[in-house]
Amino acid sequence: MNTLDWKNIPFGYSDTDYNVRCYYRNGAWGKIETSSSVMISMHMASTCLHYGQEGFEGLKAYTGRDGKVRLFRVEENARRMQKTAERVLMEPPPVELFCEMVREAVRLNARFIPPYGYGSTLYIRPLLIGTGPEVGVRPAKEYLLIIFVVPVGPYFKEGFQPVDMMIDRDHDRAAPLGTGDVKVGGNYAASLQSLEIAKKLGFSSTIYLDAKEKKFIDECGPANFIGIKGKKYITPASSSILPSITNKSLQQLAESLGYEVERRPVPFEELAEFDEVAECGTAAVLTPIKKIVDPVAGKTFTYGNGEAGPVCTELYKAYTAIQWGEVPDPFGWTEIVEL
Ligand SMILES: *Cc1c(COP(=O)(O)O)cnc(C)c1O
Repeated sequence: MNTLDWKNIPFGYSDTDYNVRCYYRNGAWGKIETSSSVMISMHMASTCLHYGQEGFEGLKAYTGRDGKVRLFRVEENARRMQKTAERVLMEPPPVELFCEMVREAVRLNARFIPPYGYGSTLYIRPLLIGTGPEVGVRPAKEYLLIIFVVPVGPYFKEGFQPVDMMIDRDHDRAAPLGTGDVKVGGNYAASLQSLEIAKKLGFSSTIYLDAKEKKFIDECGPANFIGIKGKKYITPASSSILPSITNKSLQQLAESLGYEVERRPVPFEELAEFDEVAECGTAAVLTPIKKIVDPVAGKTFTYGNGEAGPVCTELYKAYTAIQWGEVPDPFGWTEIVEL
C-alpha cells in the first residue's frame, strides 16, 4: 500500500490525505472537522495576516520496533500552545481538544507514518491563527486550530553528525521581554535573514546571544543550546528562549544517568570550556556541534575531532531508544495511538 521511498524522504513539506480543523466562533470551540483540502479560506483582514496573531507547534509520531505508533509528550505541546495563545491574546485551545486533534490527524494519515528502521517520522504541525477580521490593532474574535502532518526524514541528512554553527551578532531573534519564549511565527521571520547568511557561509544554523548585552548564549535558531562539562549538563536560562520539550526531557534523562543539570545564564566565554556542545529540539533531536565561529569577535571554538562526543552519544541513544519504543519508557513520555 505504501509507495513512499522511506529511505530518502526529506525534512520538508509534502501532501498527505487529511488535515483536522476546529474553529473558535461566537465564544466557543466547534466540532473537530476533517478536511482533504490543503487550502484555508479566510478573511483578508484576518489578524494572523496583519498583526502576526498566530502560533504553532511541532511534534512527531514514531513507529516503534513493536510496530506501534507513539506520540511523544503531546500534552506538553498542548500546554505550550496555550501559553503562546495567551501571550498574543488568542483563544487557548483546551489541552484535550488539541491532543484529540493530533491523534485524529495521525489516524487519518496512517499510511504516511514511516515504518520503523529508517529514522523517519510523521511530523505533526498544529497551527493556531486569528481568522476574525480587524483593522485596528486588537485581537480577533475568531480562531482556527488546524493540524496537518507530513512524513519526514531526519532534519540533518547526515543523521547524528556534528554540525558547524555561526554566532550572529548583527541580528536578534527575540528581545528579553518580547515573544522569544513562545512559539510564534514572528520569531522565525526575525531569524530568516541570519539563517540565510549562516547557510551561505556554510554553517548549519545560527547561535544567538542575549539581545540586551550580547554576553550570554541564548539559543540556536530553532533549537536550544546544551553544553557539557564533565558530568554537568548546562543549558541557558533566559527569558527570550523557547522552552524546548526536548531539552526538558533530556535534562530529566541526564539526571537519571547521573549528570548534574545546570540551568543558568551561560556566558559567551564559557564556550571555550565545554567538552561537548549540542543543539536540541524536536526537529534536530540532539545534534552535536563541532565548531562555533564568531566572525565579529574573530573567534572559533572547536569540539572533539569531528565526531560526536561520548556524552551526546549516550544521551542521544537513550533518548531515541525511548521514542522508538526500543526500551521501556520510565518517564511516561510516550502515548500509543490506536490506529
Ligand atoms: C520549537 C522550538 C525549539 C524546540 O522545541 P522542542 O519542544 O524541543 O521541539 C527550540 N527553539 C525554538 C526557537 C523553537 O521554536
